[in-house]
Amino acid sequence: MAQPPNIVILVAKADPGTKSKGVSLLIVETGDLPGYSVGRRLKKIGMKRNDTAELAFADMRLAQTALLGMDEGQGFYQLMKQLPWERLILGYIALGASQCALRVTLEYVRERRAFGRRVMDFQNTRFKLAEAATRIELLGAFLDRCLADLEAGRLTPEGAAMAKWWGSQTQCDIADECLQLHGGYGHMSEYLISELYTDARVQKIYGGTNEIMKDVIARSLDID
Ligand SMILES: Cc1cc2nc3c(=O)[nH]c(=O)nc-3n(C[C@H](O)[C@H](O)[C@H](O)COP(=O)(O)OP(=O)(O)OC[C@H]3O[C@@H](n4cnc5c(N)ncnc54)[C@H](O)[C@@H]3O)c2cc1C
Repeated sequence: MAQPPNIVILVAKADPGTKSKGVSLLIVETGDLPGYSVGRRLKKIGMKRNDTAELAFADMRLAQTALLGMDEGQGFYQLMKQLPWERLILGYIALGASQCALRVTLEYVRERRAFGRRVMDFQNTRFKLAEAATRIELLGAFLDRCLADLEAGRLTPEGAAMAKWWGSQTQCDIADECLQLHGGYGHMSEYLISELYTDARVQKIYGGTNEIMKDVIARSLDID
């Protein structure tokens, strides 16, 4: 069976003298393309099921048809248009992962016994789970509002930034609290919560770091 084509989308400057706004998007079918090579596979603390590798582009020559869009130099604006959508997706990933963390933790604490009681019966456990359930409901309600805004064409960059930073922070907090409720088993790879914990961390980094998200929000507040 034929291998699927290997496609990469590049953000590149046609003229190295220009600033970030002079970038263009290029779509490239790599195949045996001279100058393209895949470097070492990077080892990550989370998201281990996805591979991440260094890609090198040395003196690579492309046809004009590789340009995405009609004109050169529009890459920055093309990327900006997609960012709210991408950030909202990251918010929904955070919601799903948080729901999953709560579900596996509920299963665990109902089963596990300590000092003659179910871990579920400790007041601290009940409060932590109640907090997580509430945070998940609030996150879901906010994301659904953002989704309605997106569909209506009015999702703002700051709204999407709120969804991304709040969602990923909530996800990390819930993963941490839920892992804690697993005790020592939470630190073991065989328990799903450990993977939910390590996978959560990058959500605060990619798609624009949460610091950048807060900067986007603050800029929208600093307008007369
Ligand atoms: C697993 C993984 C997958 C990724 N996938 C993709 C992908 O598919 N596509 C893609 O384009 N990128 C991807 N990235 C890259 C990711 O988007 C960047 O790592 C991220 O945007 C941060 O950029 P940086 O690593 O250069 O950090 P830096 O910009 O060097 O930031 C370092 C620190 O400085 C802070 N900082 C930087 N600038 C400011 C500022 N102005 N104000 C305040 N604080 C600031 C940051 O918040 C951060 O804490 C991926 C990264 C990882 C780890």
